[in-house]
Amino acid sequence: LNAYDAIYYSGESNSGGKTIAINLPNDERVQLKKGTRRLQLKNVMKAKFDKILVPIANELITPEQRKFITFDAFFANTMFHEVAHGLGIKNTINGKGSVRTSLKNLSSALEEGKADVLGLYMVMQLHKKGELDGDMKDYMTTFMASIFRSIRFGAASAHGRANMLRFNYFKEKEAFIRNDNGTYTLNYDKITKAMNDLSALILKLQGDGDYDAVEKLMKEKGSISHQLQKDLDRLVEKNIPVDITFEQGVKVLGL
Ligand SMILES: [Zn+2]
Repeated sequence: LNAYDAIYYSGESNSGGKTIAINLPNDERVQLKKGTRRLQLKNVMKAKFDKILVPIANELITPEQRKFITFDAFFANTMFHEVAHGLGIKNTINGKGSVRTSLKNLSSALEEGKADVLGLYMVMQLHKKGELDGDMKDYMTTFMASIFRSIRFGAASAHGRANMLRFNYFKEKEAFIRNDNGTYTLNYDKITKAMNDLSALILKLQGDGDYDAVEKLMKEKGSISHQLQKDLDRLVEKNIPVDITFEQGVKVLGL
């Protein structure tokens, strides 16, 4: 696992959503034989943190909890999201073949959801062991602010759908509440249980390759409520971007 500063994005990488971390290859046969490699793109991450995540938190997270939004937590959550992609169930346990082929068009959204919650789970375990510094509330609050950030990628994006699902699941488990003033307050005790329960649910669906159950879950919890949409609209009114674009190339580099 290495961290880099990106100097140039081209082709598909420079169209649409800008990647902040990479775990490749995606082919589970290669993953099982050779493993995967992770890259963290630190300067891109910092740009999204400063220009998107902090402004979102300043609008949607309750003022008392905003101090828990930190770049280190964002970096660690993203890193373990990628680690979680490299681990987990690649093949169903009931002979349905790979998880990816049995869950078809829904496999990516579920896999992104898995990487988010299991990434946070790993952060929590390492934090307990003293391997990660800081307050665990940093990681959880930054995680919550990032849910709002990623929901804005929309239902066409695997990341967008995964985050809609998690938002609705966490809401049901009272991992956070919405205050009348339109901010959100996290319940740190309940987040742990919500994270564990959602991890268990996703891993079981992947292991069983249960397409119908994933479809049902996405139908029930994979959409944006009217109220959440109104809250997200406030981010647009405040001119908080959905993503960043780059000023790049030889001219910018002074070459
Ligand atoms: Zn991912």
